[in-house]
Amino acid sequence: MKKKIVSAVLCLSMAAALLAGCGSSSSTTADTAEETTEAETEEEVAEEEAEAVEETEEVAEESEEAAEVTTVTEGVLTMGTNAAFPPYEYYDDADEIVGIDAEIAEALAEKLGLTLEIVDMDFSSIITSVQSGKIDVGIAGMTVTEDRLENVNFTDSYATGIQVIIVPEGSEITSVDDLSNEDILIGVQEGTTGHTYCSDDYGEDRVIAYTNGATAVQALLQGKVDCVVIDEQPALSYVEANEGLEILETEYVVEDYAIAVSKDNEALLDALNTALAELIEDGTVQSILDTYITAE
Ligand code: GLN
Repeated sequence: MKKKIVSAVLCLSMAAALLAGCGSSSSTTADTAEETTEAETEEEVAEEEAEAVEETEEVAEESEEAAEVTTVTEGVLTMGTNAAFPPYEYYDDADEIVGIDAEIAEALAEKLGLTLEIVDMDFSSIITSVQSGKIDVGIAGMTVTEDRLENVNFTDSYATGIQVIIVPEGSEITSVDDLSNEDILIGVQEGTTGHTYCSDDYGEDRVIAYTNGATAVQALLQGKVDCVVIDEQPALSYVEANEGLEILETEYVVEDYAIAVSKDNEALLDALNTALAELIEDGTVQSILDTYITAE
């Protein structure tokens, strides 16, 4: 944008200079002194005009800049996620990261005039990467919690998550109350709310943390843990993809998903909230959710 404005100003100054030139060559009858004065006057006027134009452009530029945001890489919205969390983020057959979060991020980036770049990382690294300025946003089916709010800002919520319990079919664990059984090992994803709640409620000794949902479910299939506590939508995907698993009817915790943004980038938070409100208002967010989540 800056470049465009600079070149517009240059063109205008050139046009002004040409006009000034025309003025002096047309005054061939005037004596030298007069011609010089006239030329200077015309040049001055042209210069003043050019300056006035420049000032107006600068004001326009300033107000535009107020709406513009600073990102880690200029012109790019860098999103951190953990792409083992279907249908929010996962790899498709073409090895691209797709899903609800990827699509919402794409729509937000477009509104902000930025190109989206997705970085796949452990879920537990997302908040620190936002804080250290490695990524602009964490969009990862991430629950808003008091603890996280101490380290990052969150946008308004765009979806609801529910912590559920996956067990092998026919398991003795039939409700959330059974998790109190001292013999039970609970699989979770490291650094997630499921990890925190289970550690708080049942003690760290009985909670085994895996780097992502896929490995936690793998451990369940191998009998290394007795159940997995994870968000409902990925749970549904994992149960559908693997024989012999089921989700207990009891919900453990209901939560709000939002986008994590650095506390040092209020402008980005504001711009994202404005864009998100528009995308919620015009039905884009709902239609993205509906594409991936079919009502039962
Ligand atoms: N909603 C959970 C959390 O924020 C899990 C998110 C995830 O694993 N991607 O901790």
